[in-house]
Amino acid sequence: MSFYKSGRPFVIAGPCSAETRDQVMETAQALSLMGIHLFRAGVWKPRTRPGSFEGNGIAALKWLAEAKELYNLPFTVEVAEQEHIELALKYGADALWVGARTTVNPFQVQKLADVLKGMNIPVMVKNPVNPDVDLWLGAIERFEKNGITEVAAIHRGFSGYSSAIGFRNQPNWPVPIELKRRRPDIALICDPSHITGKRDRIAEVAQKAMDMHFDGLMIETHPRPTEAWTDAAQQVTPAALKIILDNLVVRDEFTRDMTSQVQLEYLRQVMDSLDDEIIDLIAKRMEMSEKMGDLKKACNMTVYQPARWREIVESRGVRAEMHHLSKEFIVEVYEKIHHESIRKQLQVLEEAENKIKN
Ligand code: PEP
Ligand code: MN
Repeated sequence: MSFYKSGRPFVIAGPCSAETRDQVMETAQALSLMGIHLFRAGVWKPRTRPGSFEGNGIAALKWLAEAKELYNLPFTVEVAEQEHIELALKYGADALWVGARTTVNPFQVQKLADVLKGMNIPVMVKNPVNPDVDLWLGAIERFEKNGITEVAAIHRGFSGYSSAIGFRNQPNWPVPIELKRRRPDIALICDPSHITGKRDRIAEVAQKAMDMHFDGLMIETHPRPTEAWTDAAQQVTPAALKIILDNLVVRDEFTRDMTSQVQLEYLRQVMDSLDDEIIDLIAKRMEMSEKMGDLKKACNMTVYQPARWREIVESRGVRAEMHHLSKEFIVEVYEKIHHESIRKQLQVLEEAENKIKN
């Protein structure tokens, strides 16, 4: 992934949409002075509802080509159709990105990958709108299978009915972290603009991405954000982007400091043995579940008892709070444990039924 390795973070910035020639030139000039790596602008916009501004198409590509020439600034655009790819390449795009609404559709992703077969242009794949790591990886693999080697993943959050924590899209960090665990070789870029939907929270999410060992950032930048034709609430000025980038603390995965290394190693060993204990205790708890399965079968009781489950949620929540642990977190852990316990008990019942049948 050498393309994205030209800096950490690898910075992609530019407006949500290329609106006018002046807006493209003004943004490109300011960003080129800041040394960003790639200029972004949407020229075909996937809009949620019809009747909104859908991009300037070829006219916008011409402005991007002109800005590239004038400011020596490589650029990237979103592509969703075969024709988009052909035009983007014709006007000299240096990288392409696939939007969240396209990644969900394997037929469409395959079509795009087929158009690019044998060409070596960097392709960045945004996460699908739903938190499905396999679907995201699947889209990436379709490009890789057709010979694209410089593939990156962009985390732009996941849509939901309610916007918990006040963001436009849920970050759902475990999803990109799992992607990185499975494919550490792929560059992972965070798009805090589409996650937050609000310019004043971009810095905080960009910092979190850096702390999660992301390789890059894509941040929507506009000379007059409040007047933007699309995504006005989340774009920042080039000056604001500079402040965000200057204040970013970029940490390394490893340290050369021996004392810290030794301390870290000690904490890891303690954690390893605590994890052993946790797993041993879970195994013991599951043995109890099997015994309960036997008993419930003998007494002809249901495996799932809502009143008992309510009591578990309540009491474990109280104990979590005693330890200053988040109640939601512990309840989530217990949901998983309870689910597995029910599976074990159902197994006991099934085995008993099979014995009767045979
Ligand atoms: C965009 O980057 O402007 C865009 C449309 O993004 P997404 O596909 O993440 O919604
Ligand atoms: Mn946008």
